[in-house]
Amino acid sequence: MNIVILLGAPGSGKGTVAARLASADPKLQHVSSGDLLRGAVAQGTPAGVEAKAFMEAGKLVPDGLIARMIADRVASAPSDSTMLLDGFPRNLAQADILDKTARESGAKISAAVLIDVPDEIIFDRIAGRRTCPKCKAGYHVKNLPPKKEGICDVCGTALVQRKDDNPETVKDRLAVYHSQTEPLVKHYSAAGLLRTVDGNGAADAIAEAFRMAMA
Ligand code: AMP
Repeated sequence: MNIVILLGAPGSGKGTVAARLASADPKLQHVSSGDLLRGAVAQGTPAGVEAKAFMEAGKLVPDGLIARMIADRVASAPSDSTMLLDGFPRNLAQADILDKTARESGAKISAAVLIDVPDEIIFDRIAGRRTCPKCKAGYHVKNLPPKKEGICDVCGTALVQRKDDNPETVKDRLAVYHSQTEPLVKHYSAAGLLRTVDGNGAADAIAEAFRMAMA
């Protein structure tokens, strides 16, 4: 099994790119740490109860909590698949955990692809972001609107805005990104795994650039 890590700030488009690529290729599996955690919070599992306050404050949840969820997904992935890992690792300690998880399950980290977007564009993007709570499809009120306002094209559910997409929390999430997650860019560059794609522009073009970069 192959693992491709998606790197980039919150709002850089990691989830959109991964979902697009996965929907076009059954061998690609999109695993989003944020979606796993939001699912656990919604279900009220012990992990979800523990994670909730961290997430609402824009802080990282404890490493062990999210690492266990990711390890389960890696262990149960088909051996001929490629996992698009979105949102994990988020710091150097998690990168070490992922190396160990991959080794233990015979998976190979084949690339870490950074979607590069300046902070000033991130704010605008996140403010307009809407998600389908049922099928997780992502939209943007200006850049990627659904056909019918406020309704998911895929499953017809009313779209929602994430609680942590408000300006104050976004500021905190960006600060966490720069201090804790950005060092991963150097880390994967030193390992010879880093590729960078420009995250400005149309979603289709970015997804295609990403697909080429991870090949
Ligand atoms: P995301 O959807 O990736 O922006 O994640 C939403 C929130 O979930 C983050 O702000 C964190 O609180 C939490 N989270 C997601 N992934 C991780 C991770 N790898 N480590 C710690 N917390 C995470």
